[in-house]
Amino acid sequence: MKTIGMIGGMSWESSIEYYRLVNEAVKERLGDLHSAKSVMVSVDFAEIEKLQREGSWEQATRAMVAAARSVEAGGADFLIICTNTMHKMAEEVQQGIGIPLLHIADATAEVINARGLHRVGLLGTRFTMEEDFYRGRLVEKFHLGVLIPETADREIVHRVIYDELVLGKIQPASKAEYLRIIAGLAEAGAEGIILGCTEIGLLISQADSRLPLFDTTRIHALAAVEYALQV
Ligand code: GLU
Repeated sequence: MKTIGMIGGMSWESSIEYYRLVNEAVKERLGDLHSAKSVMVSVDFAEIEKLQREGSWEQATRAMVAAARSVEAGGADFLIICTNTMHKMAEEVQQGIGIPLLHIADATAEVINARGLHRVGLLGTRFTMEEDFYRGRLVEKFHLGVLIPETADREIVHRVIYDELVLGKIQPASKAEYLRIIAGLAEAGAEGIILGCTEIGLLISQADSRLPLFDTTRIHALAAVEYALQV
Protein backbone atom coordinates (compact mmCIF):
# COMPACT_ATOMS: atom_id res chain seq x y z
CA MET A 1 0.00 0.00 0.00
CA LYS A 2 1.28 3.47 -0.89
CA THR A 3 1.35 6.20 1.75
CA ILE A 4 -1.24 8.91 1.05
CA GLY A 5 0.06 12.45 1.56
CA MET A 6 -2.47 15.14 2.43
CA ILE A 7 -2.37 18.90 2.87
CA GLY A 8 -5.20 19.55 5.29
CA GLY A 9 -6.56 22.33 7.45
CA MET A 10 -8.53 24.08 4.69
CA SER A 11 -10.58 23.63 6.66
CA TRP A 12 -10.03 20.98 9.32
CA GLU A 13 -13.80 20.41 9.23
CA SER A 14 -13.26 18.67 5.88
CA SER A 15 -9.82 17.27 6.67
CA ILE A 16 -11.32 15.01 9.32
CA GLU A 17 -13.74 13.76 6.65
CA TYR A 18 -10.80 12.92 4.39
CA TYR A 19 -9.08 11.08 7.23
CA ARG A 20 -12.24 9.11 8.03
CA LEU A 21 -13.02 8.34 4.37
CA VAL A 22 -9.56 7.03 3.44
CA ASN A 23 -9.47 4.79 6.50
CA GLU A 24 -13.02 3.50 6.00
CA ALA A 25 -12.27 2.75 2.35
CA VAL A 26 -9.05 0.86 3.11
CA LYS A 27 -10.83 -1.13 5.82
CA GLU A 28 -13.62 -1.96 3.39
CA ARG A 29 -11.16 -3.05 0.69
CA LEU A 30 -8.66 -4.98 2.82
CA GLY A 31 -10.69 -5.90 5.90
CA ASP A 32 -9.49 -6.85 9.36
CA LEU A 33 -7.35 -4.27 11.08
CA HIS A 34 -6.25 -2.57 7.88
CA SER A 35 -6.13 1.21 7.76
CA ALA A 36 -4.72 3.83 5.41
CA LYS A 37 -1.04 4.71 5.54
CA SER A 38 -1.03 8.48 5.51
CA VAL A 39 0.83 11.68 6.31
CA MET A 40 -1.13 14.91 6.79
CA VAL A 41 0.36 18.36 7.10
CA SER A 42 -2.36 20.66 8.38
CA VAL A 43 -2.07 24.42 7.93
CA ASP A 44 -3.60 27.27 9.95
CA PHE A 45 -6.59 28.24 7.82
CA ALA A 46 -6.73 31.77 9.26
CA GLU A 47 -3.37 32.47 7.59
CA ILE A 48 -4.45 30.94 4.29
CA GLU A 49 -7.85 32.65 4.22
CA LYS A 50 -6.20 36.04 4.79
CA LEU A 51 -3.90 35.49 1.81
CA GLN A 52 -6.87 34.44 -0.34
CA ARG A 53 -8.94 37.47 0.69
CA GLU A 54 -6.06 39.85 0.04
CA GLY A 55 -5.21 38.20 -3.26
CA SER A 56 -1.68 37.38 -2.07
CA TRP A 57 -1.50 34.34 -4.28
CA GLU A 58 2.28 34.22 -4.56
CA GLN A 59 2.59 33.94 -0.82
CA ALA A 60 -0.22 31.39 -0.73
CA THR A 61 1.60 29.38 -3.39
CA ARG A 62 4.80 29.44 -1.34
CA ALA A 63 2.86 28.18 1.68
CA MET A 64 1.30 25.35 -0.34
CA VAL A 65 4.64 24.31 -1.87
CA ALA A 66 6.24 24.32 1.61
CA ALA A 67 3.42 22.19 3.01
CA ALA A 68 3.70 19.80 0.05
CA ARG A 69 7.43 19.41 0.63
CA SER A 70 6.80 18.60 4.30
CA VAL A 71 4.31 15.95 3.23
CA GLU A 72 6.86 14.45 0.86
CA ALA A 73 9.59 14.58 3.51
CA GLY A 74 7.18 12.77 5.85
CA GLY A 75 7.26 9.76 3.56
CA ALA A 76 4.21 10.17 1.33
CA ASP A 77 4.22 8.40 -2.05
CA PHE A 78 1.77 10.88 -3.58
CA LEU A 79 -0.11 14.02 -2.61
CA ILE A 80 -3.69 15.19 -2.37
CA ILE A 81 -4.57 18.80 -1.53
CA CYS A 82 -7.71 18.57 0.62
CA THR A 83 -9.48 21.62 -0.82
CA ASN A 84 -10.72 22.60 -4.26
CA THR A 85 -9.73 26.26 -4.03
CA MET A 86 -6.08 25.66 -3.33
CA HIS A 87 -5.75 23.74 -6.58
CA LYS A 88 -5.32 27.22 -8.01
CA MET A 89 -1.58 26.61 -7.55
CA ALA A 90 -1.64 22.87 -8.29
CA GLU A 91 0.88 23.22 -11.09
CA GLU A 92 3.43 25.06 -8.93
CA VAL A 93 2.93 22.53 -6.14
CA GLN A 94 3.52 19.65 -8.56
CA GLN A 95 6.66 21.31 -9.87
CA GLY A 96 7.95 21.78 -6.32
CA ILE A 97 7.83 18.12 -5.30
CA GLY A 98 9.06 14.77 -6.59
CA ILE A 99 5.86 12.77 -5.95
CA PRO A 100 2.67 12.85 -8.05
CA LEU A 101 -0.25 15.15 -7.21
CA LEU A 102 -3.70 13.64 -7.60
CA HIS A 103 -5.88 16.55 -8.76
CA ILE A 104 -9.36 16.88 -7.21
CA ALA A 105 -11.00 18.15 -10.42
CA ASP A 106 -9.58 15.26 -12.46
CA ALA A 107 -10.84 12.67 -9.99
CA THR A 108 -14.28 14.33 -10.03
CA ALA A 109 -14.48 14.68 -13.81
CA GLU A 110 -13.60 11.01 -14.26
CA VAL A 111 -16.53 9.99 -12.05
CA ILE A 112 -18.87 12.32 -13.95
CA ASN A 113 -17.68 10.96 -17.30
CA ALA A 114 -18.14 7.39 -16.06
CA ARG A 115 -21.76 8.28 -15.21
CA GLY A 116 -22.21 9.50 -18.78
CA LEU A 117 -23.11 13.08 -17.83
CA HIS A 118 -22.05 16.02 -20.00
CA ARG A 119 -23.38 19.13 -18.30
CA VAL A 120 -22.92 19.85 -14.61
CA GLY A 121 -23.44 22.69 -12.18
CA LEU A 122 -20.51 23.80 -10.03
CA LEU A 123 -20.74 25.10 -6.46
CA GLY A 124 -17.67 26.23 -4.54
CA THR A 125 -15.82 29.31 -3.43
CA ARG A 126 -15.92 32.22 -5.85
CA PHE A 127 -12.35 31.36 -6.86
CA THR A 128 -13.40 27.84 -7.81
CA MET A 129 -16.63 28.87 -9.55
CA GLU A 130 -15.24 31.82 -11.47
CA GLU A 131 -11.60 31.14 -12.27
CA ASP A 132 -10.12 29.05 -15.00
CA PHE A 133 -7.94 26.76 -12.90
CA TYR A 134 -10.96 24.63 -12.03
CA ARG A 135 -13.79 25.29 -14.48
CA GLY A 136 -11.38 25.59 -17.39
CA ARG A 137 -9.83 22.25 -16.55
CA LEU A 138 -13.25 20.55 -16.53
CA VAL A 139 -14.14 22.11 -19.86
CA GLU A 140 -10.84 21.73 -21.72
CA LYS A 141 -9.49 18.48 -20.34
CA PHE A 142 -12.77 16.63 -19.83
CA HIS A 143 -15.12 18.36 -22.30
CA LEU A 144 -17.77 18.98 -19.66
CA GLY A 145 -20.32 21.77 -19.87
CA VAL A 146 -20.06 23.66 -16.57
CA LEU A 147 -22.83 25.92 -15.29
CA ILE A 148 -22.37 28.25 -12.33
CA PRO A 149 -24.99 30.21 -10.38
CA GLU A 150 -25.61 33.86 -11.24
CA THR A 151 -23.65 36.56 -9.40
CA ALA A 152 -25.91 37.07 -6.36
CA ASP A 153 -26.20 33.34 -5.79
CA ARG A 154 -22.44 32.85 -6.16
CA GLU A 155 -22.07 35.39 -3.36
CA ILE A 156 -24.38 33.33 -1.15
CA VAL A 157 -22.55 30.06 -1.90
CA HIS A 158 -19.18 31.71 -1.17
CA ARG A 159 -20.34 33.45 2.02
CA VAL A 160 -21.88 30.30 3.49
CA ILE A 161 -18.57 28.47 2.98
CA TYR A 162 -16.41 31.09 4.71
CA ASP A 163 -18.84 32.30 7.40
CA GLU A 164 -20.38 28.98 8.30
CA LEU A 165 -19.14 25.68 6.89
CA VAL A 166 -15.41 26.09 7.61
CA LEU A 167 -16.44 26.99 11.17
CA GLY A 168 -18.55 23.86 11.48
CA LYS A 169 -21.84 25.80 11.43
CA ILE A 170 -24.58 23.88 9.66
CA GLN A 171 -27.65 26.10 9.21
CA PRO A 172 -30.99 24.90 7.81
CA ALA A 173 -31.57 28.31 6.12
CA SER A 174 -28.29 27.97 4.22
CA LYS A 175 -29.16 24.45 3.21
CA ALA A 176 -32.45 25.74 1.81
CA GLU A 177 -30.56 28.40 -0.14
CA TYR A 178 -28.15 25.85 -1.59
CA LEU A 179 -31.05 23.60 -2.62
CA ARG A 180 -32.79 26.56 -4.27
CA ILE A 181 -29.59 27.37 -6.18
CA ILE A 182 -29.18 23.72 -7.21
CA ALA A 183 -32.78 23.69 -8.47
CA GLY A 184 -31.95 26.76 -10.57
CA LEU A 185 -28.93 25.05 -12.10
CA ALA A 186 -31.07 22.00 -12.89
CA GLU A 187 -33.58 24.28 -14.55
CA ALA A 188 -30.75 25.74 -16.64
CA GLY A 189 -29.81 22.25 -17.84
CA ALA A 190 -27.39 20.79 -15.29
CA GLU A 191 -27.59 16.98 -15.18
CA GLY A 192 -25.60 16.80 -11.96
CA ILE A 193 -23.97 19.11 -9.42
CA ILE A 194 -20.33 19.22 -8.35
CA LEU A 195 -20.03 19.99 -4.64
CA GLY A 196 -16.78 21.76 -5.46
CA CYS A 197 -15.85 22.78 -1.96
CA THR A 198 -14.78 20.14 0.50
CA GLU A 199 -17.20 21.33 3.22
CA ILE A 200 -20.42 21.39 1.17
CA GLY A 201 -20.98 17.69 1.87
CA LEU A 202 -21.41 18.66 5.52
CA LEU A 203 -24.45 20.76 4.53
CA ILE A 204 -26.17 18.75 1.82
CA SER A 205 -26.18 15.12 0.81
CA GLN A 206 -27.56 13.01 -2.00
CA ALA A 207 -30.77 12.41 -0.05
CA ASP A 208 -31.56 16.14 -0.42
CA SER A 209 -31.48 16.22 -4.22
CA ARG A 210 -32.97 14.37 -7.17
CA LEU A 211 -30.00 15.46 -9.26
CA PRO A 212 -26.80 13.41 -8.84
CA LEU A 213 -24.41 15.23 -6.49
CA PHE A 214 -20.65 14.81 -6.93
CA ASP A 215 -19.07 15.34 -3.53
CA THR A 216 -15.45 16.23 -4.26
CA THR A 217 -14.28 15.27 -0.75
CA ARG A 218 -15.59 11.76 -1.06
CA ILE A 219 -14.51 11.33 -4.68
CA HIS A 220 -11.00 12.64 -4.00
CA ALA A 221 -10.52 10.51 -0.87
CA LEU A 222 -11.70 7.36 -2.67
CA ALA A 223 -9.49 8.11 -5.68
CA ALA A 224 -6.54 8.41 -3.29
CA VAL A 225 -7.33 5.00 -1.83
CA GLU A 226 -7.65 3.46 -5.31
CA TYR A 227 -4.24 4.87 -6.20
CA ALA A 228 -2.71 3.79 -2.89
CA LEU A 229 -3.86 0.21 -3.40
CA GLN A 230 -2.80 -0.07 -7.05
CA VAL A 231 0.08 -2.47 -7.52
N1 GLU B 1 -12.51 23.74 1.48
C1 GLU B 1 -12.93 24.70 0.53
C2 GLU B 1 -12.65 24.25 -0.89
O1 GLU B 1 -12.72 23.06 -1.15
C3 GLU B 1 -12.68 26.12 0.80
C4 GLU B 1 -11.55 26.44 1.72
C5 GLU B 1 -10.38 26.98 0.96
O2 GLU B 1 -10.44 28.12 0.57
O3 GLU B 1 -9.44 26.24 0.73
O4 GLU B 1 -12.44 25.01 -1.77
